[in-house]
Amino acid sequence: MPEGHTLHRLALTLDRAFAGTRPRASSPQGRFVDGAALIDGRLLERAEAWGKHLFLVFEGDVILNIHLGLIGVLDVTGYEGVVPAPVGAVRLRLVGERHVADLRGATVVEIVTPEEMDATLARLGPDPLRAGTESNEPERALARMARTGRTFAETLMDQSVIAGVGNLYRCEVLFRHRVDPFRPAKEIRPATFLRIWDDLVDLLAIGVAFGQIITMEHQLEEAREILRGLDESASDAYRHHRLTLVDWQGRDEAEAGGRPAYERSGPFPREYAVYQRNGEACYTCGSRIRTRVVAGRNLFWCGRCQRRR
Ligand SMILES: [Zn+2]
Repeated sequence: MPEGHTLHRLALTLDRAFAGTRPRASSPQGRFVDGAALIDGRLLERAEAWGKHLFLVFEGDVILNIHLGLIGVLDVTGYEGVVPAPVGAVRLRLVGERHVADLRGATVVEIVTPEEMDATLARLGPDPLRAGTESNEPERALARMARTGRTFAETLMDQSVIAGVGNLYRCEVLFRHRVDPFRPAKEIRPATFLRIWDDLVDLLAIGVAFGQIITMEHQLEEAREILRGLDESASDAYRHHRLTLVDWQGRDEAEAGGRPAYERSGPFPREYAVYQRNGEACYTCGSRIRTRVVAGRNLFWCGRCQRRR
């Protein structure tokens, strides 16, 4: 399932491709014909992500709400000349002068009012990628944690406690701070949680920039180095809301119809401290990484390293 960094990267990609234009909208598969007609040719003001929700805000308070769910995919590709034909069951297609967006398999695709959008946002916990803005204070998550009997690992997956974190970030951030996943959430020290929050703010932003979850310190150092270098050559990046989108395989390729950068497997080897390393030796202490289903997904952790609360 896509985690928050994927949705924020998609919002940046859609913003760059379509904001300020009037894309044509259609439903090649036929299951979103009425919704597509409502936004067809309408001015797209902006694309926004909140946690794992994506909103395309069109003029006249017409808002498209998308939740990709487990298997949904939104492809944004560049083209020149003839618009490429849709492939597979495309629920919604947006066509601009140089870009096509195809949505398949999403759990939620609907037109909503600003009030309905606000109601959805009110159910979400603070989003680390919106840190520093109103209603995204980590103290809100702490308040929710104080009122539950669930374990910390369970609450980290609850979008009403903290928005945008999925299973991979959950496993890795718990290990990075050596926190016991099975501690009741209300027993986690506020100082520990605030350190985890600050870490997520940093990790998720790097995830947005590269379209990949990066949690190993040596890879993070390299990623930060690349981002620092981009300050001098801003043409390699797209910036919005303090977030940066790096076309790490080169903008030319992406705009010439290659796979969208956010969708490819990322510039760094897939390497994690605990995620999917069940039975392998912990890099820190050598004991075996363990796994158990927690909140519907496989949690991975090191029982020796992770004892903090
Ligand atoms: Zn260990």
